Amino acid sequence: MFAVLMVLQWAVAIAVASWYSPSTWNGADRSIHPHMIIAIIGGGLLASLPVAMALLLPGRSITRNVIAVSQVLFSSLLIHLSGGRIEMHFHIFGSFAFLASYRDWKVLVAPTLIVVADHMVRGIWWPESVFGIATASHWIWIEHTIWLLFEELVLLITIRQSVAEMRSLAVHTIQLEAATQTAEDANKAKSEFLASMSHELRTPLNGVIGMTELLSESELDDRQRRFVDACQSSGKALLKLISDILDFSKIEAGHMVLEERAFDLRLLLDDVVLCMPLQLDEKRIKLSCHFQQLPTLQIIGDSHRLRQVLLNLLGNAVKFTEHGEIRFYVHPQRLNSDEVTLLFSIEDTGIGIPPDRLGSLFQSFSQVDNSISRKYGGTGLGLSISKSIVENMNGVIGVESREGVGSRFWFTATFRRAHDNREPHPKDPSKRASTKSKTSQLDSAHISFDVTASPVAQILLADDNPSNQQLAKEIVIGCGWQCDVVDNGIDALRALDSKHYDVVLMDCQMPLLDGFMTTKEIHKRIAEGRIGSRPAIVALTGNAIQGDRQRCLDAGMDDYVSKPFDLTQLRKTVSRLLVAQHC
Ligand code: ADP
Repeated sequence: MFAVLMVLQWAVAIAVASWYSPSTWNGADRSIHPHMIIAIIGGGLLASLPVAMALLLPGRSITRNVIAVSQVLFSSLLIHLSGGRIEMHFHIFGSFAFLASYRDWKVLVAPTLIVVADHMVRGIWWPESVFGIATASHWIWIEHTIWLLFEELVLLITIRQSVAEMRSLAVHTIQLEAATQTAEDANKAKSEFLASMSHELRTPLNGVIGMTELLSESELDDRQRRFVDACQSSGKALLKLISDILDFSKIEAGHMVLEERAFDLRLLLDDVVLCMPLQLDEKRIKLSCHFQQLPTLQIIGDSHRLRQVLLNLLGNAVKFTEHGEIRFYVHPQRLNSDEVTLLFSIEDTGIGIPPDRLGSLFQSFSQVDNSISRKYGGTGLGLSISKSIVENMNGVIGVESREGVGSRFWFTATFRRAHDNREPHPKDPSKRASTKSKTSQLDSAHISFDVTASPVAQILLADDNPSNQQLAKEIVIGCGWQCDVVDNGIDALRALDSKHYDVVLMDCQMPLLDGFMTTKEIHKRIAEGRIGSRPAIVALTGNAIQGDRQRCLDAGMDDYVSKPFDLTQLRKTVSRLLVAQHC
């Protein structure tokens, strides 16, 4: 500000000199008045030092003092050039007001002394130059000084107040920053806690659900089967509860991040529908799917989250319908070459929802009434989680319902279209599978059948948890594949050095070398030629926390199975990778 002001004042000094005394006369001879020379050269000198210092040494105390001195010297110059006009003395008051913006009383000391000395010396010996009169009383400079000191007194009070305010603002800012940092640290700690809790909770559940699944495939009498089924459904209910609470925490913490991966919509819908029959059979209700208007679509988005919303809405429809039919519609609302907006709609002939509860249905922990929750179970989180997911997909969710008649839940979601001419990632199973019509028609059992017919696949399982080892090994061997087990990353690398494996099932959290580091090392060794052919790597992890799937894929893993994995899921994932490798 002062650098600009100095240059302006220089220009004003020249303007004042050329207005009041552009030239001087010596008889008939006219020449440039010394005022012009003083204005140009003196003003230039006065302005150049503070301008240079403001540009080169901004913010220094010496710069502030040089500027302050130059500023009042400009006042003296302008007063002199105007012939001591009293109005020009206001420039001094203006200068001090400007200098007060430094909020530093020390800056005002030197200029005050200069102004007082200037008025006194010039007032005594050259009063025309400062007061515009030839004879001036000595008291004039004293009177001017008193007015100046009065202004400074006011300025000093203002400076004190503003410094006190700035100091308290700074203290508040520091406290706020510290509080924000603490909150961020706490949030981070909470996320980490959730991630590890998620792992800790899912790992034993994985064992319970997986083992009961294996048990249910063996010969059991009716009583035993009832017990096993009860274990399995309790385990699954607990898993759903844990997942809902984790999702809810993620949404609360603003951590819900959607993935961007290409997937085949029809495959996903088939998959979702395949998950339903068990519950439908129990209730003898019919599920009809209406996907006729749906073209074959490769879209980019988060297939897992879309699946989660659909399973929640379909699951609710089944849960709250005793007889009749559930109709599942999907059709494109808007379709162009880059984007597609889909409308999903699930209609049931169930108990319906009273009109006064429709408004609060998508809020967390909202259930129509507690007796319903006791009869049907659930946490009341599913719909609010679905709403967040749908909104993250740039969509809206809604419901229409009549008590005793049925409900229609619908939502829209917008996805980018994946262009089919894109080169699929050689190891990306979802893209490989989706390019093959053969695979798209197969359900998990068929895929594994196909693959078991080929030479025995070699699987390496790296997991430190004994019950997980046992479960995954049982599943792998049950599929007719050969399985070696190691319990840390170092041993996994050793095993890969000595033998070829088609697929590595990699737990992410292992002692010595975790799954991410091990994968990195595998890729390094492949690049160096130390590992001959590249195995497909499947991450096994209980961390269902934000971006974990993406983290695994980014680390160079080919697919991801979150614990507790079920038989079908693991079989299907490994089968897909094997099919992809052999095609
Ligand atoms: P949850 O089902 O786990 O309790 P949701 O958020 O999915 O949680 O559902 C909240 C409530 O909305 C349910 O408890 C139920 O009262 C009501 N609701 C959801 N879907 C339906 C439906 N299709 N028919 C009747 N009521 C439903």
